[in-house]
Parts: sequence; structure tokens; C-alpha cells
Amino acid sequence: MLDADVQPEPTAAPATPARPGPTRPTPAAIGALRPLSLDSVSLSPSGQLGQWQARNAAATLPHCIAQLDRAGALNNLRRLTGEHDGPHTGMWFSDTDVFKTMEAAAWELADPRADPDLRAFLDGTAELLARVQDTDGYLNSYVMAERPDRRWHDLHWSHELYCAGHLFQAAVAAARVGVGQVIQDVARRLADLLVERFGPAGTEGLCGHAGVETALVELYRTTGHRPYLDLAQLFIHRRGRGLLDPERFGPTYLQDHVPVREATEVAGHAVRQLYLLSGVVDVAVETGDTALLAAARRLWDSAYLTKTYVTGAHGSRHRDEAYGDPYELPPDRAYGETCAAVASVHWNWRMLLAEGHRRYADELERVLFNALAGASSLDGVRFFYSNPLQLRTGHDGSDEDAPGQRLPWYSCSCCPPNLARLMASLHAYTATAAADGLQLHLYAAGTIQAQVRGRPVTIAVRTAYPWSGRIALEVRAASAEPWTMSLRVPAWCRSHRLDAAGAEVAYTDGYLRLTRDWSAASVVLDLDLPPRLVAAHPHVDAVRGCLALARGPLVYCLEQADLPAGVRLEDVRLDPDAPLGTTAMPGGPPEAVALTATGSVSPAGPAEPYRDPTIPPGGPATPLPLTAVPYFLWGNRDPGPMRVWIPTG
Ligand SMILES: [Zn+2]
Repeated sequence: MLDADVQPEPTAAPATPARPGPTRPTPAAIGALRPLSLDSVSLSPSGQLGQWQARNAAATLPHCIAQLDRAGALNNLRRLTGEHDGPHTGMWFSDTDVFKTMEAAAWELADPRADPDLRAFLDGTAELLARVQDTDGYLNSYVMAERPDRRWHDLHWSHELYCAGHLFQAAVAAARVGVGQVIQDVARRLADLLVERFGPAGTEGLCGHAGVETALVELYRTTGHRPYLDLAQLFIHRRGRGLLDPERFGPTYLQDHVPVREATEVAGHAVRQLYLLSGVVDVAVETGDTALLAAARRLWDSAYLTKTYVTGAHGSRHRDEAYGDPYELPPDRAYGETCAAVASVHWNWRMLLAEGHRRYADELERVLFNALAGASSLDGVRFFYSNPLQLRTGHDGSDEDAPGQRLPWYSCSCCPPNLARLMASLHAYTATAAADGLQLHLYAAGTIQAQVRGRPVTIAVRTAYPWSGRIALEVRAASAEPWTMSLRVPAWCRSHRLDAAGAEVAYTDGYLRLTRDWSAASVVLDLDLPPRLVAAHPHVDAVRGCLALARGPLVYCLEQADLPAGVRLEDVRLDPDAPLGTTAMPGGPPEAVALTATGSVSPAGPAEPYRDPTIPPGGPATPLPLTAVPYFLWGNRDPGPMRVWIPTG
């Protein structure tokens, strides 16, 4: 947090030239809002988002780099140059672990204080890729070494284009930050090969795992080379026309069962669906395709009104890592892959830029503070792949598909480097610009330095959000010309107070719109954060009769660690009529706020699973004070049962 007596410089300009961050629509693109440059926002490590970003730089990213060697992902590339002798190890798409980690390193290198080892990793790995790359531009360690005669033959399953997409994203980050020419050259050669092979003059292929679409659009945005955008558009057009071999998973798994424009429901593999929809929005806004954008909006309604967990997690079936039916949201068998949470941030950010509505920023916040933050341990080096909302007593956590605690790496380790690349660029997702001024979507301690109508503006943000709802802003603008600063009031917030003397205030679409001369001004927004109960839609049968606890953007859970010895979590009931309170989190970070509630414990009766309903289910209920902890902090103490949804009867 900034010191209270530190004031922003009245006409401070960004210390470095404006560099684009992730997602940079061209000026011609459809867009209600525009992203700020990568250098416009700096997060203070004293705030929650800044703390996560600092932890990512200090712990998660170095851990990922070390794991690339340990798990063999780098050796899979080195064996093609004779620098390593051994079999391919890990998944056949392990190149993406390398590419995502390179992207994270590139974003991190935007900070002049970044560890120089990151630059050595980025450059050294890019040189390795250049040595591996075929003369025609082809690059995929698994296919090149193991199935050289199957290039582009098994697109439904090979992940060749998916891998290429992650390489392009790393190259885009390097280009925008201004580091690493080699990776950009490698990416361009492969992208040009894709255009030749799959463009209008090539064959009608597409990838079984979406992701290359959004990467191609970003590469177009960075290079100005239109064929990349055209190819992304073609890939989206081709999906849903039965061009992919459905093999054992079926076409829905691949989102190949219906063209995107006709789809009414998100379906199939959740990460693929969400990556696809990010690409759909990118193509729609760059090509002015309002019908395609409407399809994305329609699918957003399907995803977020009927298929999203209260933590913001996506994917309710372990089988196929897939979406279930509407309202099929079992808490104990929730899949909720971490990559789906990352992809949800990507998609909502794009929808927010395109349309400017609060609901997208609300979802971005929900998934960030719950599913996404919960995927990482407090020390930043252990991770969940699946993110359940309940862990039962007696759970067999030996399978990495549903472990009882976070693991340092996975046999399919797509998630940790995905977290690393998002966290390294997290500051870019907090605020935007529009013709009338600036919009603050995510509240985080730090500084915003931007241009409004070509004149510098500095906003110092002081807040302990999400633990406190107070957001204090000190604004300095070089010009006295009035403009509008918009502050999001999240949908969960039922009351707020605003101290913005001198400003004209309007409230539209969930944003407080403050208009005034900002040459020297202060604003304090207080979002009330009383602990609250959350009920699920009646069709979510799996949690019927249960309530969840929340405060501000945070969802809470009960953990075995907070129960008296001998009390089994499944025997605990919540009294919905008793008052809720706050307290410090036992054994948690000092700033963390836990909730207090009142409940009871009633030991389950006979072991038989079914009974005559006139017979009471258990022994007499004993009152029990309850302590609930933020979901994102679960599993950081002794491993044990956990639940978000608590029975009330
Ligand atoms: Zn993953």
C-alpha cells in the first residue's frame, strides 16, 4: 500500500514508453473500452493482487522454469538437436509448458527490476527452439521426434496448432515488452507455415484443442500481418462442421458438434470451449462481425448463468474435463480445472473490452479471487489442477486427478505455467480507458499512470481490498479539463458510500461515473463488506438445502482444521438465522479475514445409507461455533476435509 503521505506527481508521465499488454485490439476493432498500456499500472506488493504478482515472480515462475528441466519438457526439445539422449517424457504437448513459461518470463521482464536469469532463460530457450525448428518453419518436439510422418495428420488430438498458439503468445509478449527477437522470428516462421498449410489456399484443417485462434489474432495485432487474422477467422468458421475426427470423445468434446454462430450452450472440454470463445471475441471485434460477437454473448449467458461454480470455476465433469448439463454443479466432484479459470479471465476481459458491461468485470473478479487464487499454495510452488468445492472425509487423494492437497507439478502440467503467465501480466487487467476517461474494474493498491485526451493522469490507489472495502484514490491530472472516472460497484455490493466532493456523480451499469476537473482530487469509495449467505439456484440439486458464506468478492469454506477434535465436517450444520461475524484467520496470513457463524453438530446415525424418513437421521444436535476461511486459502494448513456449501438442516 502506498504511504498515506505519498502524493502522485501532478504531471507524472510513464517512466517507460507505452508498451501494450496482453489483448491489444487494433484501433479499428469494435470496443467499448480500451486496455491501458502494460506500463500504466503498477501493483503494490502490499496489496493482494500485488502480493500475488510478487509471489509469482519470486517463487512460481522460478519453480516452473526448474520443473521444465526436471519434468523433461526442455529435454524433449534438446533431443532433437542431439543435446539430450533419452525418450520423450511427459505429455505429447509438453512444448506448451515451455511456451507458457516463456510468456510469463517475457511479461515479467517488463519490470526493469526483473531477475536477469529470466532473460537468460527466455533467450536460451528461444535459441534452442530456433535450432529445433525445421527449415519450413515446423516446430513440435513430439511429432518431429516420434511421428515425423504424421505431421498435421491427427489434428483432432495432436495439439500441434494448440502448441503453436502458445508459442505465438510467448512471442507476442516478447515483442510487446521489447525482449527476445529470436522467439519472435521462430513464431513468425511457424505462423507463416500455418497460413500456407491451412489458409485459403491450403487444406481445411483445424485443431482439436482451441487456443491458436486468439494467439493468431494477437500475432496479427502485434505484426499487422492480416493473413494471421484471416486464418484465425477461418479456424473459427471451420469448427462445428465435422472436419475433426471425433474418435472416442465425440464432436462435442472438441466443440465441433455445431458451428459457433449456431451454438446456444457451452459444452465439451471446458478449457477448449473457453479458449475458443476468447478467439471468437478477438476475431469478432477485429472483423466487425457483430453476429459472431452476439454468439459469444449468448454462450456467455449459458456459461455464467447455468454452468459456473460459485467460486468462478468451470467444468463439472472429470470425465472429458467437461461442462455438464445446465445446473449440474456437484461441489465434491467439481473439476474446475485451473486452466479453465485462467481462460475465464481471458474471455471476460475480452467481453469487457468489447461491450463494457459490469457483469464481465464481476466474473473476472470472482474467478480471480476464488478459483484462480485457490489453485496456488501460499508459498506459490504447489498447485491444484482440479478445484473442488468439497473434499470429503476419507477422500482418496492419491490420484493427481483429484489430490487432497496441492502438488508441485503434474504429469499434465498445463496449469502452473498458465497461472504464471496470467499473474505476470495481472496488472494489465485492472483498468481501462474510453473516450470519456478511465474505468477502474479491479481494486488493488498501486498506481495508475495513463493518458486522458493526450494528457498525463496519475491515480494513487490505497486499499486493503478484498479484506477492506475502502478504496482511497488520489488523482492528479496535467489538465483541468473535466473527464469521467468510472468506479465499479460489484453486483454483490448492496450498499456503498462515496466521498467525491466536487464531482458530478452518476450511476450507470454498475459503475459510479465521477466527472470533474481532476488536476488535484481525492475520492474515497467504501464498499460495504458484511458477511453474507449465498443460496444456489433451486435447480442446482447437488447443493439443495445448503448455503455458502461470502464476504465481498470472497467465497468462504469450512475446513476440518477449524473444527474441534472428534467433529466430522459432514456432521456440521449451519444456522442460517444466527448472526455472522468476522475474525482473524487461524493460522492464516495476518491480513486475512475469517468469518464466524453458528451451527450445530449432529453425529450421523446408523451406518445404513437409507432409512425410514420418520426416523431421525442422527443423534441430538449440539451447538457449535463455526469459523469459515477464504476458499482461496484452503488447504494451506493440515490437509483435511473442506466444504463451501454447508447444510442448514
Ligand atoms: Zn490446466
